[in-house]
Amino acid sequence: MVDLATLVSPDAALRRLWTGGEWCEGPVWVAGEAALLWSDIPNDRVLRWSERDGASVFLQPAGFQNGHTLDLDGSVLACSHGDRRIERLHLDGRREPLVDRYRGMRLNSPNDIVVKRDGTIWFTDPPYGILSDREGHTAESEIGACMVFRFDPRSGELDAVTDAMVHPNGLAFSLDESILYVSDTEGWGNPGGPHHIRAFDVIDGRRLGPPRLYYDVPAGVPDGFRLDEHGNVFTSTLEGIHVVAPDGTLIGRIPVPERTSNCVFGGPGGRTLFITAGASLYAIETLVRGAVPGPGGHR
Ligand code: MG
Repeated sequence: MVDLATLVSPDAALRRLWTGGEWCEGPVWVAGEAALLWSDIPNDRVLRWSERDGASVFLQPAGFQNGHTLDLDGSVLACSHGDRRIERLHLDGRREPLVDRYRGMRLNSPNDIVVKRDGTIWFTDPPYGILSDREGHTAESEIGACMVFRFDPRSGELDAVTDAMVHPNGLAFSLDESILYVSDTEGWGNPGGPHHIRAFDVIDGRRLGPPRLYYDVPAGVPDGFRLDEHGNVFTSTLEGIHVVAPDGTLIGRIPVPERTSNCVFGGPGGRTLFITAGASLYAIETLVRGAVPGPGGHR
């Protein structure tokens, strides 16, 4: 059993880097800028933080962006609740649409996103951006289901890879990309609903086998999560970050004083864990690096 102290020093202090948002989410570390971008969804803005410049508003309005990740070339990809699409977020603030429809129907409100080493873009599509005007614009679901999608930017093909989740939310590949982890957060609004991460075997690099339970979050829901270089999952929960071994056992907890939504590794050595939680952005130094998928850097 791995000891949490080998991953995060017991002396490491959680720092609050910024507060003043309403619901912070979607952190991404942009290595070329030595800066973090993240969303404050209800305020329809993307914020930027760097050690040198501190925090500032990067983009507002921002199409109610939620999750972000890096593409293989290091550029930033974003989920837009407001425009119900996947888009590229350029560093001059331009938002370039990539995909917004499945078989002619508008997506619900893409939530979180990850890029596979083959360049395909995988994302979740729960309804949080269309349930109310708080995180997007109220609308009916055209698809009538919440799926996980695989988008191939070379062919423009969009495939649904599973509809097995009620509200699919965070997602990440295992280090060798043989497993896709997906969280289901429907239990946030429905006490009897799911609040877990499930694991799917990836078949032929593009399809998913049946899901199995990976980790049930006892407090709140697992919204977003990231992997470290050893394949451990750092997942958000109501009470902070839970660190979970590849076999699904809980290694330990990193308490955060606000409801935690997501995290990402970054910083100069890739060992800083940035955490979005409630109104705030936090960081804690770790003893590990984030999983590195390709030339782009840390997921
Ligand atoms: Mg999310």
